[in-house]
Amino acid sequence: MGRITGPVCRLCRRDGLKLFLKGTRCDTPKCAFERRATPPGMVQKRRSKPTEYGLHLREKQKVKHYYGVLERQFRTYFSRAERGKGNTGETLMSLLERRLDNIIHRIGFASSRSAARQMVMHGHITVNGRRVDVPSYLVKAGDVVRVKNRAKSLKLVHAALADSRRDVPDFLSRTETGIPEGRVDRLPAADDVSIPVQANLIIELCSK
Ligand code: SF4
Repeated sequence: MGRITGPVCRLCRRDGLKLFLKGTRCDTPKCAFERRATPPGMVQKRRSKPTEYGLHLREKQKVKHYYGVLERQFRTYFSRAERGKGNTGETLMSLLERRLDNIIHRIGFASSRSAARQMVMHGHITVNGRRVDVPSYLVKAGDVVRVKNRAKSLKLVHAALADSRRDVPDFLSRTETGIPEGRVDRLPAADDVSIPVQANLIIELCSK
């Protein structure tokens, strides 16, 4: 499955907000967005008012960059959300938030989603006692996410927990005693996403 490569700080500058793609660096004065919040590139004079299409596209790109998914995979999430019951935008955001790499990051076991993705792919994580090495695995309410009981895995997670500066979101809970473990208390809602997203703009764009 593809992943976003290349300089990620440019994505924050392009999308106009901090997407926290570089782990602990994002919370330091070294953050590129803190130092220069203008869009990347040589041309500094930009069109003052973006087009309607531009606004819709920017919103979709922002979400894709935030979760580290490419267009094809994003379309799969959209189709699934469209087929589901309830509000398509909310279902879409809930599906993305349920990705295992996102859960590992938000629970504090990895400093970024890309680090979490690597951790999952390298077999450091179990869900309900079974090894899961697919970053796009969708967790369910009641799932227990645990680090493997081996020195290398524990070292990675303890280092991330020591550096972690963000609170665990409401829909998750974390136990740090013994082998670190996280629990999905309920399915995430659109409100649980930690960046502002206008899902209706994405739905309008993808429905055309
Ligand atoms: Fe974005 Fe983090 Fe880079 Fe800052 S340091 S621009 S938040 S990826």
